[in-house]
Amino acid sequence: MRDVIVAANWKMHTTPTDAGELARVIAARTRIAGVARVICPPFVCLAVVRESLAAVDPSVSVGAQTVHHELAGAFTGEISAPMLVGLATWVILGHSERRRDAGETDALIGRKLGRALDAGLRPILCVGERLEEREAGRQEAVVRQQLAGALAGHDPASLRGGGLVIAYEPVWAIGTGRNASGADAARMAAAIRAGLATAGLAEDGESTSVLYGGSVTSVNIGEFLAEPGIDGALVGGASLKPDEMAGIVARAGLTAQGRGLVP
Ligand code: PEP
Repeated sequence: MRDVIVAANWKMHTTPTDAGELARVIAARTRIAGVARVICPPFVCLAVVRESLAAVDPSVSVGAQTVHHELAGAFTGEISAPMLVGLATWVILGHSERRRDAGETDALIGRKLGRALDAGLRPILCVGERLEEREAGRQEAVVRQQLAGALAGHDPASLRGGGLVIAYEPVWAIGTGRNASGADAARMAAAIRAGLATAGLAEDGESTSVLYGGSVTSVNIGEFLAEPGIDGALVGGASLKPDEMAGIVARAGLTAQGRGLVP
């Protein structure tokens, strides 16, 4: 049975002064059985968010937004996977903003994936096409390529053991207020699962959680979670708003209940 997951990507928002309180409020307002909740604040807020959640609701997990592809060395300003142990248990990899702004390639993301798995961090691997690629009808080919590139060379057993999660995030929908349709996301989730099978994760194609991300709100989340192939959301802008998170996780709770994940 696949996990139902709502992950909050706070991006470059919050400071150590306000992040703990925001995490506390979100945790208190999203206590819904059957939904795995993950908060991914900036690196400098990981410790305070972790402490805050440990006090109010330790079932909410903490994630980082990226990780370096080397273990240690002369990489000014970077953070490696072993440094995150004790601070985070999840990590977002290959977000389109990092592909765009930090020049991350599929091969580099693949190396980061290895570091994350070795450190015991559960990866959320982001894939998604740009607008011109969708307009050219190449969206599935692009996403299959991103997936194959990042997973190449990885032992399927370690991906399986590490709890790999895939987030389908069409670039044109991120932070734009424009979202894909539920049907588009479901078609892509099927293509992603076919891609996982090609990468040697035959059975896991069906057991890997696939999230949708891209301008998700409490209003449109239902359209995505109505699709049996979509297992939750990676939420950006709306994840900074407790009311929005309350609505999104409540809707995810209905999906978890419908799938028999709630005792
Ligand atoms: C994201 O950053 O992963 C994201 C989906 O952002 P937004 O929800 O703001 O589009």
